[in-house]
Amino acid sequence: MTQNTGAFEALLQEDRTYPPPPDFAAHANIADPAVYEEANRDPQAFWARFAGELDWFKPWDTVLDWSNAPFAQWFVGGQLNVSYNCIDRHLNGPRKNKAAIIWEGEPGDWQVYTYRDLYREVCKFANGLKSLGVEKGDRVTIYLPMVPELPIAMLACARIGAPHSIVFGGFSAESLRDRIEDSQSKVMITADGGWRRGNIIPLKQNADASIEGDTPVENVVVVRRTAHADDMMQAGRDVWWHDLVANQPLTCEPEPMDSEDMLFMLYTSGTTGKPKGIVHTTGGYLTGTYATSKWIFDLKEDDVYWCTADIGWVTGHSYIVYGPLANGATSVMYEGSPDWPDRDRFWAIVEKYGCTICYTAPTAIRTFMRWGEEYPNRHDMSSLRLLGTVGEPINPEAWVWYWQHIGGGRCPVVDTWWQTETGAVMIAPLPGITTLKPGSATQAFPGIEAAILDEQGNEIGPGGGGYLVIRQPWPSMLRGIYGDPERFVQQYWSNYEGIYFTSDGAKLDEESYYWLLGRVDDVINVSAHRISTMEVESALVDNLKVAEAACIGRSHEVKGQAIVAFVTLKDQVGRSDAVIAELKQHVAGKIGPMARPDDIYFAAELPKTRSGKIMRRLLRDVAEGRALGDTTTLADPAVVEMLKEQYGDEE
Ligand code: ATP
Ligand code: MG
Repeated sequence: MTQNTGAFEALLQEDRTYPPPPDFAAHANIADPAVYEEANRDPQAFWARFAGELDWFKPWDTVLDWSNAPFAQWFVGGQLNVSYNCIDRHLNGPRKNKAAIIWEGEPGDWQVYTYRDLYREVCKFANGLKSLGVEKGDRVTIYLPMVPELPIAMLACARIGAPHSIVFGGFSAESLRDRIEDSQSKVMITADGGWRRGNIIPLKQNADASIEGDTPVENVVVVRRTAHADDMMQAGRDVWWHDLVANQPLTCEPEPMDSEDMLFMLYTSGTTGKPKGIVHTTGGYLTGTYATSKWIFDLKEDDVYWCTADIGWVTGHSYIVYGPLANGATSVMYEGSPDWPDRDRFWAIVEKYGCTICYTAPTAIRTFMRWGEEYPNRHDMSSLRLLGTVGEPINPEAWVWYWQHIGGGRCPVVDTWWQTETGAVMIAPLPGITTLKPGSATQAFPGIEAAILDEQGNEIGPGGGGYLVIRQPWPSMLRGIYGDPERFVQQYWSNYEGIYFTSDGAKLDEESYYWLLGRVDDVINVSAHRISTMEVESALVDNLKVAEAACIGRSHEVKGQAIVAFVTLKDQVGRSDAVIAELKQHVAGKIGPMARPDDIYFAAELPKTRSGKIMRRLLRDVAEGRALGDTTTLADPAVVEMLKEQYGDEE
C-alpha cells in the first residue's frame, strides 16, 4: 500500500438529520430495523432467502463456497436464467400487460414495452443471435445508444447464455477496439447513430473503425435509429436488426445457466487508470440486484422508476435493467441530454410519465443547481416519492438542494455507495428505517460486512477514518477481472488477507454512519493533516458563487502537499482576485486554516470521465506541470488541454 492513513481528520460538521417521513415508513417494503441484526447473525441465510424469491430451474446445494478464496461461488449447483427471471415469470399474472420499459428518445418520440412485448422482442432477437451462430459462452459486444434495443439485446444474450460486454456509446473507436479485443467478441451490436443535444453520434463509423483489420468480430448487427449510415452496411458482415428479427419465432427457450456461469463483463470507468473487465455471474448477481432494488428503492407494484444513468455503466446494468425487471417494476429510459431542447428536460419526463422514483448522479445534481430552480419549478413533480444518488460522494449542499427542489421536501434521498466490482449497492439507507444525513451513505446493506481499517488492518471505530473494506464475500461480488486472475488478486485482495479492498477512503461518525471520502489517492496530506479532496470541495461548493470544484494535492517542499482547487463559478459570477480571496477564506472558515487552498484556478469546466466523474489525476498533472496521463476515458479532452494551457506552467 502506498498511501498512509493514520486518522483522517474529522473535518466538516454536518448536523442536519432527516428521519423517514412517517407516511413513507408506514408503507415501506422494509421498516423493521431488526433486519440488520438478523442478516448479520446469518448473512448466508439472509441472502438465500432473497435468492429463493427468484425462479430456479434447479435448486442450489451450497449457498457459498469460499474454499478457493478470493474466487467465490454462490448458490453452487443451482440453475436459473436471468432473462426468465426478468420477463417470463411475470407473464402469468397481472403484470403481463404492465409496462416493463418506458422509453423516451431525445427528439421526443417514445415507446412503451409491456412485459409481454418485451418477451416477444427478446425471444425474437435471441433467435436472431442464434442464427448468427452465437452460442452459450460466446461474448457479444454491445455498443448502442440508450434505445430499447439495448436492454432487449442484454436480455437476449442472457437468454441464450452469451455474456455481454457493453461499451458506453460515448467511447471512441480505439477504446472500443481495446475492449473488443480483450473480450474476444464474435458479434457486435451497434446502431447507425444516436441522438445527443440534437446531433447524431456516429456510432457506426466508430464501430467500423474499431474492427478494421484483424478482429474477432464476425458479424455486426445494426439498429436503425437515425438513418445516418444506410450506405455503410458491409455485405456478408453487417445485418440490420429489423431484418435479423423479421422472421424469427416469437418464443425462445431460456438456456438453463449454472449459478456461476458468466452473465456479463463490464469495464470500469477508468478514473484511476487502465479499465478492468469486471466479470459478473448469474445467480449471485441477480440476487444482489434484486434484493437491493426491492429494499433501497422500495419498489412497489405501481412505481414508475427512473434511473437516469446510461446502461453503458454498471448503474444502468443493475438498476435500469436487471434489478428493476427482476422485481417486475416499470423502468424508464431516456436517450439524450438533460438540456435538450431545454434545461428542464428531466423534469418534463418526470411529469409526463408520473415518475415516482428518480436515481441520478451528484454531478448531474450540481449541474441542475447551477442552472437554477426555475427549471424544476416549471413542472408538477408531485408524483415523486423517493430520490437516489450514485457515482461520487455527494456534497451536503447538493443533497439538500435535491431534497428541497426536486423532492419537494417530502422524498427521502438514498445515497448509494457501490462499484462496478460490487455489482450491487453496498452502503445506503433503507428509506423506511434510516435517519438520513446529507452527504453520508449511512449504513451497510443488511448482510454486507463493511469496515474501515487502518494501514495495519486494525478496525477503526466511530469518529475515525481509513480504508473502506468488505470483510465477507457477498453474492453480487465480482468473480474476477476478465482474463487476468493475477491482477484481480493483486488489486482487490492483497492489501489485507481475505478482505476486499475498495480503494475508497471513508470516515465513521460517532453514530457509525459512513462518510465516503473518495478514492484513497484523493486524500491530500498537508503538513501531516490528512484532508479529503471531497471535504474541501464540499466547503467550496457551499459558497454561493461556486458551481463545482475539484481539489488536488500538489507537491510542496515544506508542507508535503499543498491544496490546489479548480473551481467552476455559477453562470452569473465573474472571475476576480476578490473571489479567489473570498473562497480561500471560506474554506478556512468552514474546515480550518490547514485546509486553505494555496491556489484557486478558475475552470470553465472540469475534466470528467464519460460517466461524469472528475479526473483529479489529470488536474494533478496540470498543477504539477507534467505531461497529461492517459486521457482516453475523458468525456472531452479539450477541457483539460485548456486548463493546461492556462495554468500548466505555474508552479
Ligand atoms: P476505475 O475503477 O476504473 O478507476 P471508477 O472507480 O470510477 O473507475 P466505478 O466502478 O464506476 O468506476 O465507480 C465506483 C467508484 O465511484 C467508487 O469506488 C467510489 O469511488 C465512487 N462512488 C460511487 N458511488 C458513490 C457514493 N454514493 N458515494 C461516494 N463515492 C461513490
Ligand atoms: Mg474503481
